[in-house]
Amino acid sequence: MTGRNAFGMPLGEVVEHSQACADCDADSRLSEVSPGVYRLTTLHDPTCPWFAAYRRGLNR
Ligand SMILES: [Zn+2]
Repeated sequence: MTGRNAFGMPLGEVVEHSQACADCDADSRLSEVSPGVYRLTTLHDPTCPWFAAYRRGLNR
């Protein structure tokens, strides 16, 4: 990981210390999809109430 945020911190470090989800013990993954463009993916636990509500919303 070579990217840095506005404070000069490596982006991987920022993701490692961020709270990905307030409702579960989610993991997050940061990937560079093109030079200088990053995608943050949140991997919720299967029992996460927020993600269950989100999926119900998609099925409307
Ligand atoms: Zn979650």
